[in-house]
Amino acid sequence: MKISFPSTNETFDLELSENMLAANNQLAAENRRFFDSRGIFAIDILGSVGSGKTTLVQQFVRRLKDKKKVASIAGDLATTIDADRIRTAGGEVLQVNTGSLCHLDAAIISRAMSGLNLDGLDVLLIENVGNLICPGEFRLGAHCRLVVVSVTEGPYMIVKHPAVFLDADAVAVNKTDLAGVMEVDPERLKRDALSLKPGLKTALVSAKTGEGVDELMRLMEIPGA
Ligand code: MG
Ligand code: ZN
Repeated sequence: MKISFPSTNETFDLELSENMLAANNQLAAENRRFFDSRGIFAIDILGSVGSGKTTLVQQFVRRLKDKKKVASIAGDLATTIDADRIRTAGGEVLQVNTGSLCHLDAAIISRAMSGLNLDGLDVLLIENVGNLICPGEFRLGAHCRLVVVSVTEGPYMIVKHPAVFLDADAVAVNKTDLAGVMEVDPERLKRDALSLKPGLKTALVSAKTGEGVDELMRLMEIPGA
């Protein structure tokens, strides 16, 4: 992990974090092998609190549940609000409360797997803890990492969090139904993401109305989409 001071052009390496991240990467690779051996397509969903991750997971579950076996893991500091909401859409849900830990990691996911019924499971939706900083550093072993950013967070969410977008596979620009009121151009957010990482799978969606969700799911190549 590099920490830089732009005004003096200095950069520091945080060695301890490097070791921690290397250990996590190894566990993430084990998770991936586990998913692959069982034919599970796993998705890591990142986004700030209020960006619409849970609403999007509900949309995914509703669209997949009659075709595929879907399970979700909801990561949150303290509440079971998200798991309760996802459960109303269908499928199995496991809530993970991380206390003061601001991200999920590969070890948590590995342990969570023993709390889920894995028989015939096709798709695993993992809602990460709500922030766009450290969850990006901790790979979980998922096949696709989706970052959700909504127009209600203002026009600078993407340029202010470059690392997480560089490491993403797909970006959902959410709450397009509110773009006019917020005076934020969703196309501009999409361009910001693409200029950071050309080829990133990007979709404009409203998780609330469902608009754009089918296209997003196809882009992400979710089985059953
Ligand atoms: Mg949520
Ligand atoms: Zn964290």
